[in-house]
Amino acid sequence: MSKKLNVIKEKCPQNHKCPSVKICPVNALRQEGFNAPTVDHDKCIKCGKCANFCPKKALVLEED
Ligand code: SF4
Repeated sequence: MSKKLNVIKEKCPQNHKCPSVKICPVNALRQEGFNAPTVDHDKCIKCGKCANFCPKKALVLEED
């Protein structure tokens, strides 16, 4: 079973610095300005920390 971290842009208000970017232990999240963050899937270890941290549930670890 493989998982993938998805960014649900519609759930992200895109008006603040993403708090989950700093939570990621492998620096796989990147944010341009206040845009919704993007994921470097090669770096992501699918730990789910960012998904648990995002208050808007805009980061979701899903079955691929
Ligand atoms: S699932 Fe873990 S490794 Fe992947 S982007 Fe989120 S915090 Fe980083």
